[in-house]
Amino acid sequence: MSQKTLFIDYSKCIGCETCEYICRFVHDTPRIHMVRTTSGMMAPLYCRHCEDPKCAKACTKGALVRDKDGALILQTMLCRGCTTRNCLLACPYAALLETDKGVMIAKCDLCAKRRHLGMLPACVEMCPCGAIHYIDREELGELETAEAKKAHDLLRKHISNP
Ligand code: SF4
Ligand code: SF4
Repeated sequence: MSQKTLFIDYSKCIGCETCEYICRFVHDTPRIHMVRTTSGMMAPLYCRHCEDPKCAKACTKGALVRDKDGALILQTMLCRGCTTRNCLLACPYAALLETDKGVMIAKCDLCAKRRHLGMLPACVEMCPCGAIHYIDREELGELETAEAKKAHDLLRKHISNP
């Protein structure tokens, strides 16, 4: 089964924050969030729906599971909002967020409700630069161009995790 994921080409991103705003509009708590590096680079951090998800391994309640499209989703009924925040600390991309609304963790579900209606994740549709791609994991190689890698490395140099 193919697994869906997101890919952001940081070489195309202009740091406009549209993705974070639209995610907040759709989900109340945004699951994609902007960082500003010490050099002034603005970039969104996001969930990779990893093939080998460290967040799921760290969750002792089994609350992080894959859906039919391969998206790694948070089963809110199973999440106990543990104070250890194991999942949050385990993610190498800082993609899980603490929230004080409802369940304690907010996580990208690749816009599950929109997918069920045959729509794309909202950030993919709204990014004015076409920087966000909703793809099968096998397509990652094609999108990881030299420019995209260079921009990602630049971001990585300035923040500790991604
Ligand atoms: S909407 Fe697109 S260009 Fe704007 S910050 Fe997000 S990824 Fe970058
Ligand atoms: S939350 Fe982090 S570890 Fe879990 S699937 Fe997303 S990027 Fe991977």
